[in-house]
Amino acid sequence: MSKGTKSGKCKLCLETKELNFEHIPPRSAFNKDTKYYVIDQTEYYQKAKEYTFGNIKPKSRKEQGGMGEFSFCFDCNGFLGSNYVRTYKKFAQIAMSIIQSNDKNIKAFQFDISDINLLKFLKQITAIFIASNHHTFTESYPELLEFVRNKNTSELSERFRFYMYLNNEGKNRNGQIHFTNLYGTVCEFTFRPFGFVLSIDNPKRIMELSEITNFKHYDKANKLDKLPIVLNKYPTYYPFPLDYRTEIELNSST
Ligand SMILES: [Zn+2]
Repeated sequence: MSKGTKSGKCKLCLETKELNFEHIPPRSAFNKDTKYYVIDQTEYYQKAKEYTFGNIKPKSRKEQGGMGEFSFCFDCNGFLGSNYVRTYKKFAQIAMSIIQSNDKNIKAFQFDISDINLLKFLKQITAIFIASNHHTFTESYPELLEFVRNKNTSELSERFRFYMYLNNEGKNRNGQIHFTNLYGTVCEFTFRPFGFVLSIDNPKRIMELSEITNFKHYDKANKLDKLPIVLNKYPTYYPFPLDYRTEIELNSST
């Protein structure tokens, strides 16, 4: 189903143009027929338990045809499509099949990612965070724009650290920036089979998650034969960043 176009400022080239409905994550990565509700964020935060465990139903109308926003113009959309999206899709398919073909109680998986172009993957994740946030986000962190727009650069300041995990239980998280007491400035985006965290200006490693900042140093010419990664699988029932409590833990807390 097409959602048409809208005029506005593209979040990648910053020009005012016709904007495409951008699927976040890419349509090809299990986001073609996603049905969802748009809920006011403040309300959702205040009533997280009621929304999560079904005591309240969203009042808004059910949306369908995949999650996303009018973020990028046709040219930028095409640029992401031809450079990064296929890599994201490939990794998502591998991860999804690993999760689905194993016992649902397994909490961590190790697998080989030597045939994934990790630089492209990281750029696609960065594009997702740019698309999920307001223009003020890249006005504050213009380096992120450059990292996505220049497909060859592997340069990105150490202040930006990326983490990931696996997910197939709970709710999506929308990628928007949060200022937390415990972890500082973080954006978290969750859409099965993945969750990603972008941590800004926090020199401390987030221990619960697998850090993937080094994906920026991926060198296609010196590809490794084997590249193992261990990813934890976490549920995301509540909308709060880095809250991975299970359904049982949440229901037993007051
Ligand atoms: Zn553009």
